[in-house]
Amino acid sequence: MLGAVLGSPVSHSLSPAIYNEAFRLQGIEGVYSAINCEANDVAGTLQHLWDSQAQAVSVTMPLKEEVIKYLVQIDDNAQTLNAVNCLSRGNNGWNGHNTDGDGCCDALTEQGKATISGANAIVLGAGGTARSVALALVSRGAHVAVVNRTLSKAEDLVNRVQRFCANGGSLVVGHSSHVRDASILVNATSIGMNSTISPVEATDLHSRLVILDAVYQPMKTQLLTDGEKAGARTIDGLWMLIQQARRQCLHQFGWKPDAQPLRTAAERELASRQK
Ligand code: NAP
Repeated sequence: MLGAVLGSPVSHSLSPAIYNEAFRLQGIEGVYSAINCEANDVAGTLQHLWDSQAQAVSVTMPLKEEVIKYLVQIDDNAQTLNAVNCLSRGNNGWNGHNTDGDGCCDALTEQGKATISGANAIVLGAGGTARSVALALVSRGAHVAVVNRTLSKAEDLVNRVQRFCANGGSLVVGHSSHVRDASILVNATSIGMNSTISPVEATDLHSRLVILDAVYQPMKTQLLTDGEKAGARTIDGLWMLIQQARRQCLHQFGWKPDAQPLRTAAERELASRQK
């Protein structure tokens, strides 16, 4: 086995389809699997993967924080976020990274043709994903307003990520009405997952926006449907998933697979599940 995604539940994960396509593209023999893993199995599972010479481990809910105590090294991003979603092989053990925010920014610029530096951006949510996205945006010079149901969590996000503001970027707690002045909107809440609820009033959306919805079940969320109607450019959560996986490959193998074949493989997997 060359790699695995660990989580619980994990059978829904698209990572095996994405990684196995990446290996095929690189001409690498090896299999990437989904391993259902509870918190008390993490140590043993990581040791087994290490002993099996696995190169790539991805980590999903609910283990992104739990896994940290088993790592020999953790990069600055992941340390600040207190969340790891990517393990690469170090000299003496696993190293930890977090690729969600960078993957989101790659999707915004590559799929959405967004300009991040100097942009007014709204991040909806204050959980692990929102933290990672806010950090990646402010370190690229965006002016980010964080909007969250629980105000104290938005304030905590701002305090935690503030020091990563770079290239003129800034970070404040905001309000959903700020969407009207924004050019980037990222939904990093779970609102919209398996529902037709949108986190933003359709009347606040406009054609100057690039909208990314991290939710990808359904692929076309109500937010994206409303955004399209308003003339905004829209990017679904599957692109973010693909882009963060490409970033993971860079940490783990030193190469970045093309995005489109990975997307096609993930869509094929989703289609096969609907049969
Ligand atoms: P999380 O840590 O549990 O955070 C959830 C966030 O959603 C919190 O800010 C929470 O607000 C908010 N929220 C949940 N239900 C709400 C409601 N009914 N009304 C208002 N706000 C609500 O989750 P996460 O790990 O950050 O994940 C967030 C989303 O991103 C999930 O849908 C996940 O699947 C998706 N995601 C996608 C990718 C990708 O590659 N596409 C990667 C990672 C995550 P409170 O603070 O007020 O509770």
